[in-house]
Amino acid sequence: MTLTPLVRDHVAALAPDALPAYVYDLDALRRHAAAVRAALPARVELYYAAKANPEPAVLAALRGSVDGYEVSSGGELAHVRRAVPDAPLAFGGPGKTPAEIAEAVALGVHRWHVEGVQELHRLAEVLATTPQAPVDVMLRVNLPVASGQLDSVALAMGGRPTPFGMDPDTAGECVGLLAGPLGRRLRLRGIHAHLASGLDADAQVAVAERITDWSAELADRHALTFDEVNIGGGMAVDYADPAARFDWTAFGTGLEKLLDRHPGLTLRIEPGRALTAYCGWYATEVLDVKQSHGEDFAVVRGGTHHLRTPATRGHDQPFTVLPVAEWPHPWSRPAVTTGRATVAGQLCTPKDVFAHRQPVEALRAADRVVFALAGAYAWNISHHEFLMHPRPGFHFLTTETP
Ligand SMILES: *Cc1c(COP(=O)(O)O)cnc(C)c1O
Repeated sequence: MTLTPLVRDHVAALAPDALPAYVYDLDALRRHAAAVRAALPARVELYYAAKANPEPAVLAALRGSVDGYEVSSGGELAHVRRAVPDAPLAFGGPGKTPAEIAEAVALGVHRWHVEGVQELHRLAEVLATTPQAPVDVMLRVNLPVASGQLDSVALAMGGRPTPFGMDPDTAGECVGLLAGPLGRRLRLRGIHAHLASGLDADAQVAVAERITDWSAELADRHALTFDEVNIGGGMAVDYADPAARFDWTAFGTGLEKLLDRHPGLTLRIEPGRALTAYCGWYATEVLDVKQSHGEDFAVVRGGTHHLRTPATRGHDQPFTVLPVAEWPHPWSRPAVTTGRATVAGQLCTPKDVFAHRQPVEALRAADRVVFALAGAYAWNISHHEFLMHPRPGFHFLTTETP
């Protein structure tokens, strides 16, 4: 059971017309983020990748547990600055426009994640027009990771052709450039890599070791030492098992051992999904249940234009049924007859399915369905305008007084 009491009671009390709704448990988010922080060694900095869920209330709830935020556009940069004004920001992203670079220089970012040679030049060019002190850069490297480490990964981004970061040789070239005149305005702090998504703790530690060792070798070749390594995000969220959690304790222990071998090094991680996925639910109401060629279909208010995650990832979004006793109509109540239901939305496309043929004890029109793991890559990655249905409500629950 992943539905928190706060969310269950709130959803049960909403009128049908207030559904669908995104409901967030900010207390649960704060507890989870604090537990993640507590599992990490002191020399590991925790940044939150804002693209996973940039709701201001979510960003603010995380503030007590994270060291900073990773942003990947000028829009995110301005937004996160407003939501958590004092927080350090790391600025990444594969295609930074000249205007975004100038804006980020003006706003001041803690770390630049530089993606290529041209970006170094562009950044230096902007800095040459300001009285600004040197900025701190990390080189984002697309490192090959030994096969085996990433075998089970849904979304590998490293070690194969991608638009992200630079090849290892190019990183060497950048180190050379930064040893020259560019180094007056750009201070090289270390290496950044974000190689995969969906890694378990052991795989994530192995990737961290690989990046850290490679970084140390690169520094050695140039007779330098780097004091930072950012190993990215990608800590797994298991959509098939909503109660499962990434093993932060094992991860923290693995990083501790790694740091023992690298005295003086600061590691940084920047998870998105594994921090916020668990704090959000998409709650809705069953409009109708139909039998189609031997299968039961529950059609709910809303659809994947609000919660695109199951369609994009090709999974079944886990859900809980909240039964509603009242049925005020004179006709018989549509209900699931086979013990399994495909839960679909209101869109006129066969892709609008949240979950296929899932076992349900009972499911009837007017019952509520609450989808879990909707706190990351959910509303903000969805195609809201398609079919012009009303927007969901947004509810940020907390029992703490601000
Ligand atoms: C998306 C992204 C993250 C966060 O990834 P998660 O899978 O949400 O943890 C971190 N760093 C970079 C550079 C990213 O692009």
